[in-house]
Amino acid sequence: MDADLIVVGGGAAGFFAAITAAGRGARVIILERGGQALAKVRISGGGRCNVTNACLDPAELIMRYPRGGVALRGPLTRFGPRETMGWFTTRGVVLKSEPDGRVFPRSDDAGEITGCLEEAAHRAGVQTRLRASVRAVTRAETGFTVELSNGDKLSSARVLLATGGAAHGHALAAALGHTIVPPVPSLFTFEVADTTLTALSGLSVPAARVRLTAPGQGRETGHEQTGPVLITHWGLSGPAILRLSAWAARALAEAGYRAELTLAWLSRLSPEAIEEALTARKRSAGAQHVVTQSPFGELPARLWRRLVIKAGILEAQTWAKLPRDRARALAAVLTGERLLITGKGPFKEEFVTAGGVDLDEVDFRTMESKRCPGLFLAGEILDIDGLTGGFNLQAAWTTGAIAGGLPRAPAQP
Ligand SMILES: Cc1cc2nc3c(=O)[nH]c(=O)nc-3n(C[C@H](O)[C@H](O)[C@H](O)COP(=O)(O)OP(=O)(O)OC[C@H]3O[C@@H](n4cnc5c(N)ncnc54)[C@H](O)[C@@H]3O)c2cc1C
Repeated sequence: MDADLIVVGGGAAGFFAAITAAGRGARVIILERGGQALAKVRISGGGRCNVTNACLDPAELIMRYPRGGVALRGPLTRFGPRETMGWFTTRGVVLKSEPDGRVFPRSDDAGEITGCLEEAAHRAGVQTRLRASVRAVTRAETGFTVELSNGDKLSSARVLLATGGAAHGHALAAALGHTIVPPVPSLFTFEVADTTLTALSGLSVPAARVRLTAPGQGRETGHEQTGPVLITHWGLSGPAILRLSAWAARALAEAGYRAELTLAWLSRLSPEAIEEALTARKRSAGAQHVVTQSPFGELPARLWRRLVIKAGILEAQTWAKLPRDRARALAAVLTGERLLITGKGPFKEEFVTAGGVDLDEVDFRTMESKRCPGLFLAGEILDIDGLTGGFNLQAAWTTGAIAGGLPRAPAQP
C-alpha cells in the first residue's frame, strides 16, 4: 500500500482532512491536479479569506445553508466555527471578526491561511503531489487503486474525494456508486435588461425587499430576502440578491435564469407609511418639483428621479398638483417595482456549486460513503452550499476534519 489515505483534491476540505488524518498517525498523500494547492482559498474573500463566521450556535448556523444544513447540524456541533478559530489561532494566525460576523485573518491576507495549512500538512508528514490529476478510482481487493492521468497508479486503504464542484470529481463519485444531484451555480448576481436602472450603476439602498415570481405567471415562488441591494452595470447585486440567488438557485436554473423580481426599495417602511410620507411632502413642499424633492433620505437622488419618472410623473410636476393616481403609481413603484431578470450576472463574490453527491448516501458521523466502504467525501463535492459570510469554507473545514478522523467527543459520564 502506498498510503493509508489518498486525498483527491488539495483544496480546503482535502487539506483539513489530510492534516487531521496524518496527525492521528496515518500515511497520507494529497493528489492535486493544479500547479498550486489551495488555489480557491488563496483568492477567497477577495484575497482576504473569510475563513469562517462568528455565529457559534449550530441551530442558527444551519439556517445559512440553503442545501445541507440539516445534515451539517451534528458535524458543526463537533467541529464548528469555534473549533476552526481555535485551530488557526493555536497555529499562530491572529483572527478578527467584523461587525457582520465574518471572520478574517487580522492581516487581511489569505496567504496567511494557506501558509498555515501548508505548514501544518508538512509538519504532520502529509505528502502533497501537484499536477497529479486523478483519472479513476477503483475498488481493489483490499482498498483502492487510484489512477492518474499520466498513467501512474497508487494504492491506498482509504480514499477521500475532496474535488470541490469539479464535474470530474462528480464522475469519480458516480463511478463508485453515488447519485449526483445535478450541479447548478449558487451565489450570483442578476442581469436586468433595464437601461434606466443599469445607468445608475454603483448606487445602493440599505434595506430593500426582493421577491421572486415565476415569469409571466405572477406565481409566487416563496423566495424573498431583505437587505442591501446594489445596482450594477448589468443589473442587481448586493447581499439580498446573493442570498436570493442561493435559496432560489435550483428554481432559477430550471427557469433558464428568467424570472420576475418584485423590489420594495424601502422595506423598513410599510405601504401606509410611504403613502403618508408622500402626502406630508405634498403639504410641506407644494411648490417644489417631485423629481428633485424626495421624502426618503435613504434613496439616492438619482434613483428617486428614476422611480418618479417610472411612475409616469413629468419632470415639471410640482408636489402640490400631483394627481392622486400618480401619487398612487409612485407608491406602487416604491413598494413593489417589477423587474425582469434576463440572466445570471457575469461576476460573483463567492461562487459555489449547489448540487453534488446526494447527502443520504453519506454517513455524517464519519463522512464515509454508505455506498462504498472506505470511500470518504468532504467539502463542496457534497450537495451542500452556504450563503456568503464564511459558511462555505466552514463546511469544508467541518466535513474535512470529520473525514480525517476527528475523534468523537468522549461519552458523557
Ligand atoms: C472567488 C471565490 C471566493 C470565495 N470566497 C470565500 C470566502 O471568503 N469564504 C468562504 O467561506 N467561501 C468562499 N468561497 C467558497 C469556497 O472557496 C469553497 O466553498 C471551498 O474552497 C470549497 O473547498 P473544497 O476543498 O471542497 O473545494 P476546492 O477548494 O474547490 O478544492 C478542490 C480541489 O480539487 C482539485 N481537483 C478537482 N478534480 C481533481 C482531480 N480529478 N484530480 C486531482 N485534483 C482535483 C481542484 O484542482 C481543487 O484544488 C469562495 C469561492 C470563490 C470561487
